[in-house]
Amino acid sequence: MVPAEKYSLKYNREREGFVVQSWQQQRCPNCSAPLSGYDLRRRKSIDTEGRSQIVYVRRLRCAGCGRLHTEIPDFMLPYKQYTKAAVEEGKTGGPSCCPADASTIRRWKK
Ligand SMILES: [Zn+2]
Repeated sequence: MVPAEKYSLKYNREREGFVVQSWQQQRCPNCSAPLSGYDLRRRKSIDTEGRSQIVYVRRLRCAGCGRLHTEIPDFMLPYKQYTKAAVEEGKTGGPSCCPADASTIRRWKK
């Protein structure tokens, strides 16, 4: 996975979700060759209010080693449905102020 810092979210009516439009030239974490767009992956994103939305993130292919890397915008976390803000809130504020259930929050705290 590679992080995206410079991007915008654009709603795509056909896909019924937000597409992350990044204008960074990403480089491969393994071999530092340039990455180019491969396809889009559908991700669910749940915010601090418990609202979920669909976000399409880019998968990028390395020109050097051929590996695929998912580009994650900075408000999301790899392998998590909850946004970074929701996870932080759950970790620090306890179960009452975060939409995730108690067992999920306990897992984050580990
Ligand atoms: Zn590579």
